Amino acid sequence: MSEELTHPTIVDGWFREINEMWRGQAMTLKVDKILHHEKSLYQDVLVFKSTDYGNVLVLDNVIQCTERDEFSYQEMITHLAMNSHPEPKKVLVIGGGDGGVLREVIKHECVEEAILCDIDEAVIRVSKQYLPDMSASYKHPKVKTHIGDGFKFLADFKNTFDVIITDSSDPDGPAESLFQLPYFELLEGALREGGVITTQGCSFPIF
Ligand code: SAM
Repeated sequence: MSEELTHPTIVDGWFREINEMWRGQAMTLKVDKILHHEKSLYQDVLVFKSTDYGNVLVLDNVIQCTERDEFSYQEMITHLAMNSHPEPKKVLVIGGGDGGVLREVIKHECVEEAILCDIDEAVIRVSKQYLPDMSASYKHPKVKTHIGDGFKFLADFKNTFDVIITDSSDPDGPAESLFQLPYFELLEGALREGGVITTQGCSFPIF
């Protein structure tokens, strides 16, 4: 029989999201079962089945998405940008390894190509296994996936994209460079005229 998985954030059957980024408060979710845990090249990757929020993806102890409420985040970060452009044909997603933003992007029939660049293959792999509704978009013929650092990837493109969506994790980890001025300069250069960006803004008031 395989040994039951454990994780330091899960105590007495409850996951607790304790982090210096939001001092003095913590989201807690009741855990049904830990499904996966690994230390990838870039971060601690945890997936657990919660009692009420479906499967939950956690990176470096911070919740990235839950099956129950991910739609509200993915829809807002995607459709505001997509609908602010008259005809987005070429779209780039930086981060977003769970696939949820891609799923929303390809709902727009005018899209000819959607590229996703996530630094961590482990996130894409576990999402395909444990978050099937979010990750289904990886199979779509308009989608291309690149594993690599979003900052470096973006530097190779000039005047290319109609919409760029940065669906990164918070700046405390591999996403740090995606919250700094040089990244926003690269975004501007990679957009076609009239292009639009949206970005995961973390909790700006806290910073
Ligand atoms: N919805 C989430 C949130 O609210 O924070 C973000 C979801 S998505 C899983 C975040 C992704 O950003 C992760 O898959 C992570 O691997 C990716 N990421 C972090 N740093 C990155 C970088 N420098 N380049 C590309 N992807 C990055």
